[in-house]
Amino acid sequence: MQQPTPLGFSYGPCEQAFIAWYLQESWRQGQLRQHGPIAIDPACAALNYGATIFDGLKARRLADGSIGLFRPDANAARFHAGAERLTMPPVPQELFMRAVQAVVRANQEQVPHPEIGDLYLRPQLFGHQGVLGLQAGSNFTFYLWANPVGLYFPQGLAPGKFLIETTAHRAVRGGTGAVKAAGNYAAALCFSKAAKAAGYAEVIWLDAEHASFPEEVGAANLFCVKDGVLYTPPLTGTILPGVTRDSIITIAREILGIEVREDRFSVEFLLQADEAFCTGTAAVISPMGFINHRGTDHPIGDGVTTGAMTRLLHKTLTDIQYGRAEDPFRWVVRVE
Ligand SMILES: *Cc1c(COP(=O)(O)O)cnc(C)c1O
Repeated sequence: MQQPTPLGFSYGPCEQAFIAWYLQESWRQGQLRQHGPIAIDPACAALNYGATIFDGLKARRLADGSIGLFRPDANAARFHAGAERLTMPPVPQELFMRAVQAVVRANQEQVPHPEIGDLYLRPQLFGHQGVLGLQAGSNFTFYLWANPVGLYFPQGLAPGKFLIETTAHRAVRGGTGAVKAAGNYAAALCFSKAAKAAGYAEVIWLDAEHASFPEEVGAANLFCVKDGVLYTPPLTGTILPGVTRDSIITIAREILGIEVREDRFSVEFLLQADEAFCTGTAAVISPMGFINHRGTDHPIGDGVTTGAMTRLLHKTLTDIQYGRAEDPFRWVVRVE
């Protein structure tokens, strides 16, 4: 039998999306609509001042044929926090969940077989009102669309090459690093592009204060393994609190009995780790084979083999996500 071709991570939206407006100080009901362009005032707060946030979650085809979401309440909570940080009205959890359920149901034929990919969901919230002075405005759009995807890093569970960015920083103390504000990603674009042009999958960001502690990757959280202990930088406000990050920590501690330290670690420590990987909804678990620092590629382990703990965490997480194993934390929410 022919092997199915995995999807990439590229734009190819489903037909049905969801839209709801915040007008006159309240959220309207919202409805499904055909995905496509919407008329927008070029003077709107989103386009001028970056009053816009997004999130990302997946609907997966489960082993029993039904469709499951993974911890959508955690995405709703993060989306809520992001709205508040940017002075936008948070989308009520009920509206968020209704939109997610409606979009998945309307596009359920587009949820791929797990060997091919998943259905990625992209909630957005932005200020659509025209403004002149600096403000987010009073009127907002909540939009949620769907896109079938494969893996974010095409190498999958094969180790990739990453590059430590030593001059620029993604987030500062007191900034917006902990929320999915579009501006964070705008500031990172040129470094991400340069890293990719040089043959790396993504950059690894260092903390802005000391420029010595690795914080995270472009859109994924960072982990490393040394002598059987799992390390990840703590959430101090400059790191995006990933749902996958939290799930990996919980799985390691509660299911696998692995010691986890949420502690900052140096570049030198990372380069000498036994294993390193990054985690995200899109990236899942992406192992690092080589890490470039100041012009030198350093192998992690032997540079080509995916580490045993990385593989075990990947299997345990994805078995829960796809309904192949027990779900002790009741993370998977079925789409009815
Ligand atoms: C989205 C994102 C992550 C991963 O978060 P998940 O909830 O696991 O998808 C990590 N870092 C950044 C900067 C992100 O934007």
